[in-house]
Amino acid sequence: MKERQINLDLARKNGGSRQGGAGQKEPENTWTRAPSARAPRVPVQQRTAGMGPAAPRQNSRRPIRQNVRRKRRHPLRTLVKAICLGAVCLGLCIGAYRGMSGLLGTTDGSLPAMADAPSSVSETAETVWEPAGPPYVIAIDAGHGGIDRGAEGYVVEYEMTEGTTDELVALLEADPNYTPVRTRQNGEGMSVRGRAEAAAAAGAAILLSIHGNSDETGTAVGFECYPQTPGLPYHSYSLKLAHSIADRIAETGQTLRGEAGVRYTYYEGSEEEGYGKILVEESDTSVYDLPTFGVLEYAACPAVLVEQCFLTHAGDAADWASPSGWRLAAECYYKAICDFFGTEPIALDALQ
Ligand SMILES: [Zn+2]
Repeated sequence: MKERQINLDLARKNGGSRQGGAGQKEPENTWTRAPSARAPRVPVQQRTAGMGPAAPRQNSRRPIRQNVRRKRRHPLRTLVKAICLGAVCLGLCIGAYRGMSGLLGTTDGSLPAMADAPSSVSETAETVWEPAGPPYVIAIDAGHGGIDRGAEGYVVEYEMTEGTTDELVALLEADPNYTPVRTRQNGEGMSVRGRAEAAAAAGAAILLSIHGNSDETGTAVGFECYPQTPGLPYHSYSLKLAHSIADRIAETGQTLRGEAGVRYTYYEGSEEEGYGKILVEESDTSVYDLPTFGVLEYAACPAVLVEQCFLTHAGDAADWASPSGWRLAAECYYKAICDFFGTEPIALDALQ
C-alpha cells in the first residue's frame, strides 16, 4: 500500500474544530483531532440519506406520542403498524447496504473500500469474541497478488506479502494449536471484500493482513500496524493483537513508527474530490464516522493490518522484504499470535 498523506490545511478546514495547530507536537505524517470534532458513527439508514454526519434526532418523538394519545388508537392496531414499519425500514436498510456493496471490487486493502464502507457494522457495540478452538483458524491475508502488485520499491510489495504469508502459514501448520487459512492463493486476484469473506467462511478467529509501506522520499523506515478502529465490533481484541505483534517486532530492534507502532487509519473525502488517508495514534480513542482499511472494516473477527517495512528504504527492504526478512517477520507474527491466544510457541529452530 502506498502511503499517502492528506493535505492538513484542507483537512482542518473540512474538519472544523480539529486540533493540530502550531506548537502541538505531532508524530510524522500524523495529526490529531478533538474528540468532538465529528459526529459518532450512525446507523446506515441515516447515513445513506446524505452520506454525512447524522442529523440530530431531537423534536421527532414527542409530537408523535402526543398524537397517539389524542386519537386513542387501539393498542393492537398500533402494534401491527409498528411491525409493518419495522419491516419496511429493515428492507430499506438491507437494500441500501446491498446497493453500496456493489460498488466495491478492488484488490488493494486500502482506499477503494471507501465506496463500499460497510456502515452497518461500524456503529455496533463491541462484539463478544468467542473463537472456536484450539485449533484456532488464523486467516492470513497477503495484501497484494495477481495483477495487483502493490507498492514498488527495492522489492515489489506482492513478493513480500506472499513470501511472508508462505512462511507464516508454514509456522502455523507446524503448531497443532492453529489452522492457517489464506484469504487467497498466491498470484490470485481477489477483492478486499472477497478476502474478508473468505476468512469468515473459514471460521477465522483472527485475520492478519500483510502489507509493505512506501514513501516518495525513500527515507521513512520502520514498522507500524493498524487494528480495527474504535467503534468497530472487534476493536479491543484487534488492539490487543496489534500490541502483541508490535511487541514482538520491537524485540528485533526494528523501529516502531508513531507512539508504539500501533496506529489507526481513516479515510476522508469524497469520490469527486478524492480521498485522503489520515493516520491517528492509538491514544486517540475517539470514534470517528470515517472508514478504515476495507479488509478491517469487513473482517468478522479481530483483525490487524501490518505494514511490515518500507520497501522504498534500502535497509528496511533488505532486513524485512528479503527471504530472510519474510521469515523473520513471520516468526514475529507467529509468536505474537501465540501471545495473543496464550499458547506455547513451537521450537522455531527445528523448523529452519
Ligand atoms: Zn499494501
